[in-house]
Amino acid sequence: MNTLVCSADLEVTAEFDDLLRQVHAIGRDTLAVHAADVDRDARFPTESITALKDARLLSAYVPAEYGGMGLNIHQIGEICEVLGQYCGSSAMIYAMHCIQVACVVHHGQESLFFQNYLRQLVEQQLLMASATTEIGTGGDLLSSICAIEVNGDNFSLTKKAPVISYGEQADDILVTCRRSPDAPASDQVHVMVRRGEYTATPLSTWDTMGFRGTCSSGFTLTAIGDTAQILPASFTDILTQTMHPYSHIVWGALWSGIAMDAVNRARAFVRAEARKTPGETPISAVRLAEVDQVLQEMRHNVKSVTREYQELLDKNCPEAFKGFGFSIRTNNLKVSCSQRIVEIVGKALLICGISGYRNDSKFSLARHLRDSYGAALMVNNDRITKLNATMLMVHKEGH
Ligand SMILES: Cc1cc2nc3c(=O)[nH]c(=O)nc-3n(C[C@H](O)[C@H](O)[C@H](O)COP(=O)(O)OP(=O)(O)OC[C@H]3O[C@@H](n4cnc5c(N)ncnc54)[C@H](O)[C@@H]3O)c2cc1C
Repeated sequence: MNTLVCSADLEVTAEFDDLLRQVHAIGRDTLAVHAADVDRDARFPTESITALKDARLLSAYVPAEYGGMGLNIHQIGEICEVLGQYCGSSAMIYAMHCIQVACVVHHGQESLFFQNYLRQLVEQQLLMASATTEIGTGGDLLSSICAIEVNGDNFSLTKKAPVISYGEQADDILVTCRRSPDAPASDQVHVMVRRGEYTATPLSTWDTMGFRGTCSSGFTLTAIGDTAQILPASFTDILTQTMHPYSHIVWGALWSGIAMDAVNRARAFVRAEARKTPGETPISAVRLAEVDQVLQEMRHNVKSVTREYQELLDKNCPEAFKGFGFSIRTNNLKVSCSQRIVEIVGKALLICGISGYRNDSKFSLARHLRDSYGAALMVNNDRITKLNATMLMVHKEGH
């Protein structure tokens, strides 16, 4: 059984409020300034990620003993929500990086290699990416076709990955693969491949509807490395205890941020309308009240699952993740948030009307709407719902 180590060194403090103000300033001064051209050109948001590195935010979840900020999942979620209000792609990149960091923080600390890696990540503000999706298995995280081949202390690995976000810009990539060429598809390990030790040959480009700045092209990844780069826990444990809940929480948080910005644009539009007809409440104000209610539900849902996850981490008991209840609620969070974001942006569009429909208006919701449709596909909602259906047949409410 691996030991689950969580990072919760910094409590909710005035210090964290200052940090959030700093994140808002980065959002306003950098993310928002470049969001439109990042989206238009489907280019990596270099300015945003540089600003986040300058603020040492790439090591926000790394415990203080390694030099990181030691923030907890609740605080990382808040940062993702703030970033989502300014640029969905930058927020998604930050969230995906934090998921990988959490995998190392929770499951790598008993290894000298990963202890040193965490220090290096802090010093150099390394950017981590993920390659779980594979040609042939699609979004099924729990099986791999590719396998690691170990020879003494070294390994080699080739994976055909149809989607690796910021694959060209990442320093290191956590890759899932089978434990050995004769292992079953479900016997997986999580391996770190490092810049300079892998080649990424392009398989496909990234010209998509939304999240265009994540630059999630496909690659054939060929890597060599030291066996110390294999995370000591099984991938099943990493997925259940970290990747699954952490992803759905930080995604839900950043999607909430995108939805918040859509509602804020709608609010600004309604205010402008109201000024034209003093003393009258425009119908769009009623629509604003309706959409605000959905946004509140979405945000509360994220916070509630975050609280439950933090409690499980605080128990520091990997067994606590074995029951289906938490998994089902985490899946519900993802499916619900991915639906709510489309609903909220759609309602905001109805409020802003043609001004929201235009690409060249300050009320434009085009990017928000296109980004919002990606949420249901990031681990397809049907896949998740089918899993919940299976678990619900044996799970009793209240457990
Ligand atoms: C913006 C963005 C960034 C991403 N970044 C990364 C990344 O960095 N790294 C990475 O590895 N992946 C990444 N992904 C991939 C992503 O998370 C999904 O795993 C991937 O998009 C799934 O691909 P798919 O839709 O072709 O496959 P599938 O999930 O296989 O779905 C295809 C179709 O088959 C159906 N289906 C298949 N199996 C089942 C089943 N068991 N039950 C029910 N329905 C099923 C689905 O409903 C769907 O209709 C990213 C995706 C997006 C949108």
